[in-house]
Amino acid sequence: MRFEAKRAVITGGSRGIGRCIAQRLLREGARVHVFDRVAGEAPGAAFHTVDVDDPASVARAVASLDGEVDLLVNNAGITRDRTLMKMTDDEWHAVVDTNLGGAFYMLRAVAPLMAARGGGRVVNISSINALRGKFGQANYTAAKAGMIGLTKTAARELGRKGITVNAVAPGMVLTDMARSLPAEALERSRAETALGELATPEDVAAAVLFLLSDDAAAITGQVLQVDAGQYT
Ligand code: NDP
Repeated sequence: MRFEAKRAVITGGSRGIGRCIAQRLLREGARVHVFDRVAGEAPGAAFHTVDVDDPASVARAVASLDGEVDLLVNNAGITRDRTLMKMTDDEWHAVVDTNLGGAFYMLRAVAPLMAARGGGRVVNISSINALRGKFGQANYTAAKAGMIGLTKTAARELGRKGITVNAVAPGMVLTDMARSLPAEALERSRAETALGELATPEDVAAAVLFLLSDDAAAITGQVLQVDAGQYT
């Protein structure tokens, strides 16, 4: 029960990695608010219809929390893969606005509430592809790398207010997002790992919960890879 009486917000918490994080936080005593476009199965969590790439939608939902947020996980994300010479403006903006813009809008809205409560913990979900680049993902890698810069700056700006800000960079994880890829791509990712098996949503959630916990009090501005050694 590491998170008893803590209030947590998880963006994109209706499915995949976000849902796994939400469920584990609930099991450990947190009161969980899922911010997503469509409600998923989240027994015990409060659901808010939010489009994280829309600052007004984010501001409205955060205002409904009555100032009570201790933990924030910026997990909502999308991909629109295409090689950069063929990538459309819409594909660029959708991915940058959702992954990077969404994390910024959430942080800007939530940080004052955490500061008023004397502290908080933020984890941004980036990707190993932000660190190494990835064919066909100019928009996604730029956004996920931007989230690392945002993490480090937010850690510096918010540290004296008792708020830690870290990033988790997963490798390939078998969720709906990954299942939309061709089987060969999944096999290539598995072959890249040092451990011979892909990381699971549970593996990513375990790392996120550690960074949200009291045990991580002196860790801020860091990027923790959870990738079964896929990029080492
Ligand atoms: P999923 O596609 O399974 O789930 C993402 C969730 O985010 C969905 O519920 C989705 O809603 C929601 N979402 C998307 N856009 C918005 C928005 N504008 N506002 C609110 N919610 C939104 O993704 P994963 O669980 O696989 O990924 C979670 C995070 O982990 C993402 O940031 C992803 O980039 C990152 N990641 C994933 C990896 C993987 O291999 N799976 C690897 C590395 C990083 P909707 O159903 O409406 O789209």
